[in-house]
Amino acid sequence: MYEQEKHMLLDAHLILDKYDLVAYTSGNVSLRMNEHVIIKPSGMPYTKLRHKDMVVVNLKGEIVEGDKKPSVDTATHLYLFRHLDWAKSIIHTHSTFATVWAILEKSIPVLCTAHADVFGEDIPITEYAPVGSEAIGKATLKAIGKSGTVLLRKHGVLVVGTSVDDALKKAIFLEETARISYFSVAQGDPAALYGDEVQRLFDQYHLNYGQK
Ligand SMILES: [Zn+2]
Repeated sequence: MYEQEKHMLLDAHLILDKYDLVAYTSGNVSLRMNEHVIIKPSGMPYTKLRHKDMVVVNLKGEIVEGDKKPSVDTATHLYLFRHLDWAKSIIHTHSTFATVWAILEKSIPVLCTAHADVFGEDIPITEYAPVGSEAIGKATLKAIGKSGTVLLRKHGVLVVGTSVDDALKKAIFLEETARISYFSVAQGDPAALYGDEVQRLFDQYHLNYGQK
């Protein structure tokens, strides 16, 4: 089942690897298909990952198809899929610069137009939550805003998208934004963009940018 979607999910994992957002086995992507979720198998290196290794679970976390153990973060993904109607795909990484902000326990302020375009808000940070249960999902739900993107305190990042492409785009741009902001703050004390301008750029980008 879900052959095409498993290929799409494999491609998404390889894109994370290509953009250096993950290392060896870390990070994962999931895709919701109604009552089922397809997700990366636990602890498998990206170099060895095959589409047929993807695990299909139901929203309670029971394996529906697959001979591998699902990601250790499955409970987090499922919690968010159960609570966010619009969520279709979730990405978790420890991408370097975003994780530095998470370690410093700082949200990322909107310092440049590209950040405003894609996210339209400071990237919020969750309270600390341990891996392997619903705790990260609960902490994410409390912190999440319109960007669908959060920093996981002392851990990494979590991105919720309306599609796999949407989640990928945000995961890639988040790391870029985190890197630019990190160097900007390291070099001085940059003022944030004004709130009205952040909203204007966000609206303009989401209404007009790209191909129809
Ligand atoms: Zn993690």
